[in-house]
Amino acid sequence: MDKSKRKVVIAGNWKMNMTPSEAEAAVRETAELVEGKNGCDVILCVPFVDIDAAIKAAKGTNVKIGAQNVHFEAKGAYTGEISAAMLLECGVEYVIIGHSERRQYFGETDETVNKRTIAALNAGLKVILCLGEVLEQRQSGITSEIVAMQTKLDLAGVTAEQMKNVIIAYEPVWAIGTGLTATPEQADEVCGIIRKTIADLYSNDTADSTVIQYGGSMNDGNAAELLSKVNVDGGLIGGASLVPAKFSKIVDAAQ
Ligand code: PEP
Repeated sequence: MDKSKRKVVIAGNWKMNMTPSEAEAAVRETAELVEGKNGCDVILCVPFVDIDAAIKAAKGTNVKIGAQNVHFEAKGAYTGEISAAMLLECGVEYVIIGHSERRQYFGETDETVNKRTIAALNAGLKVILCLGEVLEQRQSGITSEIVAMQTKLDLAGVTAEQMKNVIIAYEPVWAIGTGLTATPEQADEVCGIIRKTIADLYSNDTADSTVIQYGGSMNDGNAAELLSKVNVDGGLIGGASLVPAKFSKIVDAAQ
């Protein structure tokens, strides 16, 4: 596997944290701390209402701004939802789709994740597609089957050309927000299974060039070892992304 074909991408997922004024300050502080650290791409995925403030604060810096979800319809009677065109017009470049909290608490299925992914890509957004097994699935020894199935279902209908705009985030659900982290070996193994599935679906070339992140309690203490693994091309970071000093240390580890 040729890791040099891929960029390292460090993305923060703020979840439901930060008011617009807090977001503006946190983006500014993060941008100052990661200035000139061009060895990886840096993205902050913020709540919808923070997007405007975050984009203004990130202007001219190497921090890119993403959203945390997008609806699959272009417009209409979908109260509370946000379309891809709305995000794009606000200046958003990336969107997280299929986060386990959306799957767990808001009824997202592989079918709706797939529909959102297709809509986002067709509109011109870049997608951070989250998938991963729950604890019972890992304990039953079916992790590889689960992530391979999710990869196939979530990417159904996505073309090889569109895969250039897809980042996969492997996020074992048992490691998200729990303080439990997959070992670097576990993360590497499952990211490798996802990469092999992409090779089967598309080609070795597409698999070699797809960025696959690990997410699940990544922090400034464990990032370097996780990122050293051949199949781990970055991180999707929740809790630690809320503290610029901690997040920037993860960016340092990715240089
Ligand atoms: C996440 O929200 O995607 C995540 C990985 O959270 P945490 O880093 O807090 O586990």
